[in-house]
Amino acid sequence: MIDCHCHLEQPEFDQDRDEVIRLCREAGIKAIVTCCAHPRDWEKSLEICQRYQGFVFLTAALHPEFIEEFSSQQISGFLKKLEENAGKLVGIGETGLDFYWVKDEKQRERQEGLFRETIRLAKRLGKPLVIHARDAVEPAIRILEEEGAKRVCMHMFGANQLTSRVIENGWWVSLNLILERSKKHRKVARDIPLERILLETDSPWLGQGRNDPRSIRRVAELIAEIKKLEFQEVWQACGRNAVEFFDLQQISSP
Ligand SMILES: [Zn+2]
Repeated sequence: MIDCHCHLEQPEFDQDRDEVIRLCREAGIKAIVTCCAHPRDWEKSLEICQRYQGFVFLTAALHPEFIEEFSSQQISGFLKKLEENAGKLVGIGETGLDFYWVKDEKQRERQEGLFRETIRLAKRLGKPLVIHARDAVEPAIRILEEEGAKRVCMHMFGANQLTSRVIENGWWVSLNLILERSKKHRKVARDIPLERILLETDSPWLGQGRNDPRSIRRVAELIAEIKKLEFQEVWQACGRNAVEFFDLQQISSP
């Protein structure tokens, strides 16, 4: 029972982060993977993981949506920081392509450059990759294939026409509450084997009001419904999948 993707450093949690974490533990959640997507959140993310050591784990990368804010030099600096702090990371991401927010051709090219560099960094460090791809799923998959990426999780994956490629590549997908309203995501949940699914929330976003990691229970219920499986089977399998994907060996009985 692990939330594989959320953003605990966001200001939405500033008032009551301790309380949210306490409620998550109480709800039977065994670990949370929080995702630092912007250099300004780096120090705060580290502090949060330090404070809840063994319960909150960190992935980090420069989110493609923010590419325009940074010079190439600043980007290299951040990647270097990630490399130096590799011991504090359980994964690299979210990284990828975002053609929804970024329309300019030049900036899209820079996204691709950053994406390739980030994939190579993850490979060097032996870390799994968490992928954000919006309006650019096919090119993102192609780049990952070209770079020979193996341990890959397609975050919030809804491109159901490409599910077979994800399966063939031996990758994972992480699903969240969007299953409540997206047919495409429901089709992905139906078609992808349970062993390849991770639970996530992308909280504080995606809920009605502020979302938090406890909603992975609802996500597991939805997957059980779609796959016609018992809730417990989904709940436990996704926990084990998360331990395997992020190599969280210290989490016993996830
Ligand atoms: Zn996210």
